[in-house]
Amino acid sequence: MADKNKFDLVVVGSGPGGYWSAIRGAEYGLSVAVVEKDPRLGGTCLLVGCIPTKALLHNAEVLDTFRRAQEFGIKAGEFSLDWPQAQARKDKIVGKHSKGIEYLFRKNKVEWIKGRARWSGPGRLEVTPPQGAAFTLEAKNIIFATGSEARLLPGLKAGGRVLTNIEILALAQVPKSLAIIGAGAVGVEFASMYTRFGTQVTLLEMLPRILPIEDEEISREIEKALKKQKVAIHTGARVDKVEPAPDKVKIDFTAEGKAQSLEAEYVLVAVGRRPVTEGLNLEASKVQLDRGFIRTDAYMRTAEPGVYAIGDVVAGAPQLAHAASMEGMVAVAHLAGRPAQPLDYRNCPNCTYCEPQVASVGLTEKAARDRGLRYKVGKFSFAGNSKATILGQHEGFIKLLADEKDGTVLGVHMIGPLVTELISEATLGMQLQVSADEIMQTIHAHPTLYEAMLDAANSVYGLTINM
Ligand code: NAD
Repeated sequence: MADKNKFDLVVVGSGPGGYWSAIRGAEYGLSVAVVEKDPRLGGTCLLVGCIPTKALLHNAEVLDTFRRAQEFGIKAGEFSLDWPQAQARKDKIVGKHSKGIEYLFRKNKVEWIKGRARWSGPGRLEVTPPQGAAFTLEAKNIIFATGSEARLLPGLKAGGRVLTNIEILALAQVPKSLAIIGAGAVGVEFASMYTRFGTQVTLLEMLPRILPIEDEEISREIEKALKKQKVAIHTGARVDKVEPAPDKVKIDFTAEGKAQSLEAEYVLVAVGRRPVTEGLNLEASKVQLDRGFIRTDAYMRTAEPGVYAIGDVVAGAPQLAHAASMEGMVAVAHLAGRPAQPLDYRNCPNCTYCEPQVASVGLTEKAARDRGLRYKVGKFSFAGNSKATILGQHEGFIKLLADEKDGTVLGVHMIGPLVTELISEATLGMQLQVSADEIMQTIHAHPTLYEAMLDAANSVYGLTINM
């Protein structure tokens, strides 16, 4: 009889990287276990990240639609945000999908082991369960998919007036005012959400522009849109002091060349995330750490034989759920002796679910310039797209960078309606090394937002139809 503590693969962590890996491993015929310290499956993305945030952002969208009801010929009567119901809906979505992973584990015979795992020698993990004595698992292969946690500013602790992505999802009431430090995806999404819920939001970003990883034109456009929605934005801001009090928080900062100060009910710290590797005892292994992140090769192998790492914990990889899942596919294919194809991160999409949405894949214009590439730019505004008119969402544009010589698409940058969905055409295209000319020859259904992609490709050659 098989030893119940012996597996072909043990995955540590059940986030989108971990649970995908476990299921794929089982599909390949391996015996698989997942060790998870949280009482629920799903990791940061499902429990306190992507899913609950996007659920609440959808409430903001519905609220926006109600605000514009008249324009659509609908008499909405009185309406307001029912915060407890919005929270309950969000929690239900999270619960449903966490149960969904449990179901998938049962279906695929993946064993869920509750507890905290730590490295205890080659092919071995020690697991400390919530109750009872620690025990050892033997694994031919191990994948660390332990994720990341919010980085705080020195001297600050989460709780009370100081929020991270976790606490902000469980506020008892919509705050009257909210300061947000950091205007990456987390900061901008919560700014976009709470301003629409009626909170006075102030966004403080250290760099000269918000969403600084995006193309400069996109940053400018989203800044304009958020300001129109009454978000106060300070870029090039240095936070000098954060002083939480029992009922408010005071922030001293320097921006626009002068010392300033603000008070808010809460502050959200959204300045990036650090890897979760403490307590894994990796120092005792051959695994190489880089400021807490795990170093891997293109197959997600660490320097310790049979040990892989995927997701936010990996050095130099994007901290994105979809990257984690796909890294898992590479790692599991490799360890199972199946054909494994390393990922090309240049084709990894970035999506920010603010209003209007932002999405991109490939090189920004600055990155193309810095690489000395010769390129052409095509740009098409949603103002010329009939489906955008039908939706009443004309803000934004698609910008497409194509190689000057052969038209190969180098990057696509979008801001506007549903662009977090539209980006998949550009992503698949880039994965297949598509050229602007090939997009121009592709029949795009009418009337759709996708047609803006076709028009952006046309625009590379000055042949736009709808502008
Ligand atoms: P981030 O690194 O993307 O952005 C942090 C921002 O904070 C940066 O713009 C940085 O310049 C700024 N900053 C850093 N220190 C600061 C300081 N002291 N004062 C003011 N500004 C400061 O981090 P994030 O937004 O916390 O997100 C973490 C990770 O999670 C990212 O990789 C992000 O892409 C990912 N994420 C993705 C999504 C999505 O895909 N929609 C949503 C949320 C988070």
